[in-house]
Amino acid sequence: MEGRTGTNLPRIADFNQAVILNAVRHAPDGLSRVELAELTGLSAQSVSNITRRLLDRELITEAGTRVPAGRGKPRTLLRLHPTGHFAIGVHIDPTVTTVALLDLVGDVVASVRTLPASATSPPQLVAAITEAADGLIASTGVDAGRVLGLGIAAPGPFDPGTGVVLEPPLLPEWTRVGLRELLHDATGYPVVLHKDAAAAALAELWRGPRGSAAAFADFVFLYLGTGLGAGLVIGGELLGGSTNNAGEIGHLMVAADGPRCSCGRRGCVGAACMPRNLVAEAADAGLLPSPAPGAGDREIDKLFTALCRLATGAGAARRILEESALRLARGAATVSNLLDVRAVVFGGPIWDRISAVFLPIVRDTLLTTTEARYVHRVTALGSSLGADVGAIGAGCLVLEHAFSTRPSTLLLGSHTGTAEHRAPTAG
Ligand SMILES: [Zn+2]
Repeated sequence: MEGRTGTNLPRIADFNQAVILNAVRHAPDGLSRVELAELTGLSAQSVSNITRRLLDRELITEAGTRVPAGRGKPRTLLRLHPTGHFAIGVHIDPTVTTVALLDLVGDVVASVRTLPASATSPPQLVAAITEAADGLIASTGVDAGRVLGLGIAAPGPFDPGTGVVLEPPLLPEWTRVGLRELLHDATGYPVVLHKDAAAAALAELWRGPRGSAAAFADFVFLYLGTGLGAGLVIGGELLGGSTNNAGEIGHLMVAADGPRCSCGRRGCVGAACMPRNLVAEAADAGLLPSPAPGAGDREIDKLFTALCRLATGAGAARRILEESALRLARGAATVSNLLDVRAVVFGGPIWDRISAVFLPIVRDTLLTTTEARYVHRVTALGSSLGADVGAIGAGCLVLEHAFSTRPSTLLLGSHTGTAEHRAPTAG
């Protein structure tokens, strides 16, 4: 499969090694060799051999001991070796581009923000991302040879075979851009590409603390930025669909009225929580200055911040956000009903500004209207990863691939080239 899909993103382990790595990854307190044998079904001898190899390669490390229940001598615990390898995550958004360097457990070592996609041409942005990635590696002293690859999270849809961004509705200059190839050529790293909402869901799986979405094997991540998308996790796996383009829920109809959508109808959930539309509604009500005709995403973003500040009071601004939250909640309930998930996680670039108004409304709607409510609750959660969730998820795309034990749909998103890593400028 790997040959046919043409990926050159490295897997860092063979199948049995990856089984051990994934078991260790899912146990933040560490696992002993005895526990690993019990969990994986591998023999004690196999576990001993595999862990020795993984220790030699600095993919795992011995850290601490645990005394088994009852009696017995303390057992050495194995954990992922955080600095054994690294990944670069790039989140491309119309309002900001974030580049993050992640270690092997998915922690952010360093991150930086650079030009937004809406303000630059694709070649300019590729140059800015390359400079930012090189700068992170140089400033942290990380060995570039330990960087597994570069993940990109961006608004879809994509052609998974070529890594071409097709028609991102909010980035007109980015129509049919071969983003993966451009970034691979500029940085020399293997490149994997996925939609922002899917990457955000993966970030929750990798990095969410206990009690967050990571505690649920089945959840939806509703990603709120300049548009709305869903990342779907079923049975602990990211669900990509046939071309990794699953999760486009923006045109789900949730209201008979509502702002007009790009599809020509009214009442689509994406349009109902799009900052541009909410700003326009507030301007029409005299609450905000009207944005200039053809205002860019960054100007809209500033006005949206002003609207969210006004909405901390109990006036008309708050009612605009509350109506938007109610429509989003209806969409979230429909997606929950479709997939029978246990939780809906909300996040993305605008979430921190709206969560105080939105979270109580979506939480109440999910608890009281989902069809499965007599069987289980559907929990509404805010993402614990803040505004960098897209960049963290982009880096996790690389880690997920490196640890993969299966012919994953994620493989479709990586680059087909064979060029060597280009040596970074320093480090
Ligand atoms: Zn629509």
